[in-house]
Amino acid sequence: MARIDTEWLALRAGIKPGIRVTADVTSAPGIAERYQRLGCSVVMTHGRVGLERRPRVLIYIGATPQAASSLRAAEAHLLDPKTTPREQAFFTREFGLRLGYPGCCIDAFAERTRRGGGHLRDGDRDRHDPDYVHVHDAWVARPDWRLNNLLLNHHLRLISFAPCRFDCASALAQAQAIHRLVAAAAPAHLPVLEDRLRRPLLIASDGARAWVRFAAGKLTAAEAPHALEGPPDPVDLARAPAWPGAEFTADGRVQARGDPPPRLLDFAAVR
Ligand SMILES: [Zn+2]
Repeated sequence: MARIDTEWLALRAGIKPGIRVTADVTSAPGIAERYQRLGCSVVMTHGRVGLERRPRVLIYIGATPQAASSLRAAEAHLLDPKTTPREQAFFTREFGLRLGYPGCCIDAFAERTRRGGGHLRDGDRDRHDPDYVHVHDAWVARPDWRLNNLLLNHHLRLISFAPCRFDCASALAQAQAIHRLVAAAAPAHLPVLEDRLRRPLLIASDGARAWVRFAAGKLTAAEAPHALEGPPDPVDLARAPAWPGAEFTADGRVQARGDPPPRLLDFAAVR
């Protein structure tokens, strides 16, 4: 089944003013051309992004030339090592707003940036996977599956940002709008996407994750997450047998499987 481009659907519907894609040098021109053919404005630059700071082509796509170039300008400040922490916070907000993210979710993201990537608390020495730190901050007992942004590597998502809480009303409004767009554009894809986003998910502090089943406060089965067309992550696959049998607390802390403990988000809780 073809991958559904939720970002493009949201841009076309005016839910997002712009989107940003990273690519390698070989595939970037094709991606830029595809969006230009769809009537978008595209600007590109080079930069080192992500955890590994790999050199990438950064592609900014907007409904207007101004939307595309202002995205590029905002991220240029973020990538500049001379930018002060105070300016970082300002441009993080600018960049998020121009990508159409809710203000409350941008603020929560900016706060994690200010604390220092990977830190659970101010002054912590240990660094953890950024998605784990996000889950630590945004955890709720009844997370909404529409806000599940933890399977982006498998291209399974409605939203492309980290919600401030897994029941944030503003994030949910955007997720529901995108859900309607997917229903109209790719109805056959929707049940597959829903099924995968709705599975209870565990994430460990190193970023390993698993789809799990549980009963009476205990994990009973675990599986490495995967898309229909893609393989599971080798780390997730190797770790999956370790999860069954573990007990967890009411606030989703999985016991005796690492410190800080893996967290469980029950995305099946909300229909
Ligand atoms: Zn929010």
